[in-house]
Order: sequence, then C-alpha cells, then structure tokens
Amino acid sequence: MENVIIIGTGCAGLTAAIYAARANLEPLVIEGTQPGGQLTTTSEVENFPGFPEGIDGFTLTDNIRKQAARFGAKFASDEIVSVDLKGDIKVLKSSTKTYETRTLIVATGARPRLLGIPGEKEMFGGKGVTTCATCDGAFYRGMDVVVVGGGDSACEEALFLTRFASKVTVLHRRDEFRASKIMADRVVAHEKIDVRWNTVPEEVLADETGNMRAVRIKDVITGEVSELESKGFFIAIGHIPNTHFLGDEIPTDEEGYIVSNHSSGVHTDLEGVYVAGDCSDHVYRQAITAAGMGCRAAISAERHLAEAHGVGV
Ligand code: NAP
Repeated sequence: MENVIIIGTGCAGLTAAIYAARANLEPLVIEGTQPGGQLTTTSEVENFPGFPEGIDGFTLTDNIRKQAARFGAKFASDEIVSVDLKGDIKVLKSSTKTYETRTLIVATGARPRLLGIPGEKEMFGGKGVTTCATCDGAFYRGMDVVVVGGGDSACEEALFLTRFASKVTVLHRRDEFRASKIMADRVVAHEKIDVRWNTVPEEVLADETGNMRAVRIKDVITGEVSELESKGFFIAIGHIPNTHFLGDEIPTDEEGYIVSNHSSGVHTDLEGVYVAGDCSDHVYRQAITAAGMGCRAAISAERHLAEAHGVGV
C-alpha cells in the first residue's frame, strides 16, 4: 500500500514528487509511455523562473526528476489502464500489476491534437508528418517544411525549424495568430518564414516511395485549392488531455480535462484524489503553472493523509 501515487512525470508530477518525498511520504511515481512529458519535446524554455539564459526542456525535467529522487521518490515504468477511486483505498491497474494507494495525484498531461486529414497517419513519423520539431527538425536540413497552427506552439516550432529548413511555411486557418504577440511578431518578421493566412491543409501527398512530397491546401476565403511542395509537415494545433484511462471515475469537461470545483484548483470531487498540470488546465498550460499545481496537489495529499489516515501525525 502506497501513501501517494503520482501518475505522470512532466513538470506537474515531478514537482508533486519533490514535495511528497520531502514530506517523507515516499511517493511512487508512475512514468507512463512518455517519461518527462511534453517538456522533453520542447526546445528552449525561456520563461521558467531561475534560468536567465533559458534551459532546454529535457534538462529541466531531468533536473526536477533527480531532485525528487534525492528525497526518496520511487519510480515505476508502467501504464495505468483502469482505476477504481471511490473507496478510501484507490486501486490502479496496469496490464500486469495492481497498485493500491491512500492518495492519488493525476498528472498525466496532454498529447498533440491531429488534423484527421488523408495522408497524415500514413506519413506520420519518419515519412514527413510529425508533431515535434525538436525531435525531428534536424532531419529537414536544407528542405522546405510546413507548420500548421496559429498558437505559441506553432510559432515556436516554426522559429525552431528555421535553424534547419531552407523555408518554413506556416498555415493558419484565420487571419491573425492566437500566439502571444512576441512570438507572432518574431514569426512574421523572420525572413525564412512565409505565413499563409486563412489557409487549411486538406491532404498530405506522398511521392512514389511513400514519403511526403507536398500538401494540398485550401484558401478558406477564396476556396482556391493548390499544392505546396514540402518534405516536412509539422502539426501544432493544440492538445488532448490524457484522461481516457480514468473512465467515469473522475468528472471531466466535454474535452476530457479533469474538473476541479475547489478553490485550490487541484482537488477533484473524490476524497484523496488530486490533479495537476495539463490534464486539468487548458488555459495556462505552462511548465511553471503545472509545477505550481503539482506542489499544491502534494501538500493537499499530505494534509488528507494526516487527517483521514493518521499518516505522519
Ligand atoms: P493553442 O493555443 O490552443 O493553439 C492551437 C492553434 O491551432 C490555434 O491557432 C488554432 O486555430 C489552431 N487549430 C486548432 N485546431 C485546428 C485545426 N483542426 N485545423 C487548423 N488549425 C487548428 O495551442 P498551443 O499553441 O499548443 O498552445 C497551448 C498553450 O501552451 C497556450 O497557452 C500557449 O500559450 C502555451 N505555450 C507557450 C509557449 C511559450 O510560452 N514558449 C510555447 C508553446 C505553448 P484558432 O486560433 O483559429 O483557434
């Protein structure tokens, strides 16, 4: 029986692990399929306090993990597929193992949203279509690439890709960016970036070897359809929360984000079950806000353990 299980090893889960470990609760952190979360696929993190020169996402996450391990956090590589959270003891199941815990912190993050257009799946990963410029950008040295989206992620991806690509075309379905002004301005001003406003991709087209050759695009104002030659297609259109494994055990909104009705923002409707990071927060979605939620979730779990289970009293 564990005192605290934390599912997820992004900024939220690992910060919760630091706090729970420093409270002598020996939290068990379940790592899942993408250890380190989305931050490990981010390039430079320039807005996490304490790093005036910026820090790369992988190093930041790795440092937080080491910090949690130093205070006694335990780590298990496993994927939880179902949960039973109604009782005092929370039961979590993977395909091979059952875990029991007095408190649970869900910090499972979110994954990239896809477009659902023809060619996207067929050419995903290695054949031209990707959701991660940091991971795959270097493969497109000297080539023309396309980025889809108008948020901070799309702008960040486009700017990062200018290091490798000969030209980056950003397709955005509206005529203004959703991204913060500083990112949008950098994109618009960049000599290697061409922004196609009011434009959506309709199909990713393959060459005879099955690799990407072009994307068919449509101007949503004029209805004009054309082909844009490109070897890389980077999708950056937002995220979907990783909460499907919870079934109906915790209330979520219609998009699947876990709802907290408590002023803490981390209590769920279930005693002893807390939430942190992007699986609940679709507004701020920052490393620092995820870390803050992780801290609050761990302190809340610690208090619940003392009050309801007499742990540490
Ligand atoms: P986002 O802000 O939700 O933006 C998603 C973009 O994709 C929007 O421009 C949206 O268009 C477009 N889009 C959505 N579905 C589409 C579809 N089916 N076809 C075409 N376009 C589609 O997501 P995000 O950029 O991933 O950012 C998420 C959060 O993380 C934000 O709060 C952002 O500020 C933050 N973030 C911060 C940084 C940073 O500070 N360095 C970096 C990355 C992300 P519309 O605009 O028309 O809705």
